[in-house]
Amino acid sequence: MNANSYIIGIDLGGTNMRVAAVSSAGEILCAERLKTGASEGYEAVIKRIASAVLSVSGQMPAKPSAVGLAVPGAIDFAKGVVTCSPNFPDWSDVPVARDVSNLLGLPVVIENDANAAAVGEGWSGSAKGVGSFVMITLGTGVGGGVVLDGRVWRGSSGMAGEIGHIPVRDGGRICGCGKLGCLEAYASANAVARTARERIGEEKARQLLGLANGVPEKIDSNLMAQNAGMGDPFCVEIFDQAGRDIGKVMATLALTLDISHFVIGGGMAEALPFLLGSMRRAALDHAYTLNEGKLEIVKATLGDDAGIIGAAWMGIASARPFQS
Ligand SMILES: [Zn+2]
Repeated sequence: MNANSYIIGIDLGGTNMRVAAVSSAGEILCAERLKTGASEGYEAVIKRIASAVLSVSGQMPAKPSAVGLAVPGAIDFAKGVVTCSPNFPDWSDVPVARDVSNLLGLPVVIENDANAAAVGEGWSGSAKGVGSFVMITLGTGVGGGVVLDGRVWRGSSGMAGEIGHIPVRDGGRICGCGKLGCLEAYASANAVARTARERIGEEKARQLLGLANGVPEKIDSNLMAQNAGMGDPFCVEIFDQAGRDIGKVMATLALTLDISHFVIGGGMAEALPFLLGSMRRAALDHAYTLNEGKLEIVKATLGDDAGIIGAAWMGIASARPFQS
């Protein structure tokens, strides 16, 4: 690919999609955001993706060389098929790559969105130059992407990196996946807010409740991070516990994969200053293979752009390691 060519990267969400022209250096040149319209069904979404690609590429001097599409859900990467997606109930074994490609006459590659975000961070973000790392996305849920020697590890059925569903409690809260005691049920943005609401009757929750104007439903992880920043011990304690749970899972990953570099992304990455201490302590306490100097926990730097940039990378060369 020459220096003037570009790729279209798409981050497809259940509510919105973002479509961008991405340079061969991993920079976003222009972008559009539009409603996904998932409830209108598969055909309508595919057509909307194709017309958004045409709209963005129409602002560029030439045609894109390829399209990379990040999709939430389980992907058969080799076949370009979405096996299933929680955000798109009617998407069951749908050949997304082929169908979008037929509409555009361009090569199309699809990738799981968490994997795409990890690739984006590895290509031009916080893990640039790091061959092996795990990205942990702390949002509504807890997502993960595993990169080994510059390549995404997809596993035998494309389900690798489901870090949010590693158990951290015996029994415990029921998770969205149907199992009990998953990391996601304790350390996602939703989960920490739930913990605060469950304990809202405690005396030490008064400051947080005041900040939420006395309405527990208004408590979210952003409000809690704001309160923790003002030194409120209640919020500090809840983030501390979530950090410890994440740190234990990091130890598991470090011991399994010999990983020492972790990237924290997602909306709750803003609370990383309140998670980091206990996260590091737990990772170091439980993984004898790690030490203070070796363990790196960094905040993702690409924000919402990571998925688009990673998807664009997949469009350039799906099989090429990005640090070669
Ligand atoms: Zn789960």
